[in-house]
Amino acid sequence: MTEVTTPNPSWYAEVMATERLSPHLVRIVFGGPELARYQPLGIPDEAIVLWFPRPGQKRPAPVTLENDIWGHHDPETAPEGRNYTVRSFVPGEDARMTVDFVVHPGGVAGEWAQKAEIGQELLITRPRSWFAPPAGVKWILAAADLTGLPALARVIEECTEDGPAVYAMVETVDADDLAALPETQCHARGVDASVGTGNGLNQGALTALIAAKLPELSQQGPGYVWYSGEAAQSREIRKLLRKEHGWPLDHVATVGYWRADSELWDETYDRVGGDQLVQVYYDAIKRGLSDAEASELLDEEYEKAGL
Ligand SMILES: Cc1cc2nc3c(=O)[nH]c(=O)nc-3n(C[C@H](O)[C@H](O)[C@H](O)COP(=O)(O)OP(=O)(O)OC[C@H]3O[C@@H](n4cnc5c(N)ncnc54)[C@H](O)[C@@H]3O)c2cc1C
Repeated sequence: MTEVTTPNPSWYAEVMATERLSPHLVRIVFGGPELARYQPLGIPDEAIVLWFPRPGQKRPAPVTLENDIWGHHDPETAPEGRNYTVRSFVPGEDARMTVDFVVHPGGVAGEWAQKAEIGQELLITRPRSWFAPPAGVKWILAAADLTGLPALARVIEECTEDGPAVYAMVETVDADDLAALPETQCHARGVDASVGTGNGLNQGALTALIAAKLPELSQQGPGYVWYSGEAAQSREIRKLLRKEHGWPLDHVATVGYWRADSELWDETYDRVGGDQLVQVYYDAIKRGLSDAEASELLDEEYEKAGL
């Protein structure tokens, strides 16, 4: 994972425009004076945390510095935060950041996006990314459900003529949501879509598509698979590549973007003592393992605990 930790890395951003992109996606363009000092990572799955105002607030509380850590340290005023992809960023005095939100029932972010109005303010923190194909790969398979569509769109747009060929694979509920994808460019080889199979919810649909495509792609030489979307599907795809095909970890990036029935997962997490399980991650980092290696060990621990 690539992450920036500059002093007070937070930016208030104001809604400048909203647009219904497709049946399940709303595009929001943010601006405001603080965005001029945002430094984009320039990596396709660049993501940020968006903090939402509490009911009755004009803007969410700012982060403060305590024990060398910038954050919301007072639970009385701490806002709700959610992760979103920077779909595009235009730098300058009049900087603009575009974020595409999946419209779904329930949830602070999903509900906010549907009703967003010009002038409303959010706080942005923690830019980071995962997409990191190793040198020498001949092809990239980028797969996503709706939540990963904004990042996948950037993978397609930002591929280069002399870089690896890019194949895209998406799962959407509605064919019209594919309108959010750019026309394929340069080495991008088109999009395999599994439409109507769910939004990460038809376990196995995207995993099966990937499994079916691997033999053909593997003939081109070493490749890289990036997936973002529902967390259970993310685990399935990682296991397919790592356990069944024995791929090295640096050729696989599977990032769980959201969880179906997250309330049930949270309940199970509390019941099985999830906070203790997370120690597996920190111990692995202390032993010198990478973030990806430590995350994989933690996910195996979660699975054993029924999470
Ligand atoms: C790095 C990263 C980048 C991301 N980028 C984007 C992005 O660009 N656009 C985007 O839309 N999302 C993106 N997500 C996913 C987004 O953060 C989650 O969907 C988040 O849970 C939404 O918060 P919420 O407050 O709306 O719902 P929550 O309060 O988290 O959940 C409320 C209920 O809604 C369900 N739920 C949550 N998300 C969805 C969904 N997408 N579809 C159906 N049900 C859902 C939960 O299971 C729960 O039952 C990203 C996540 C990560 C980790």
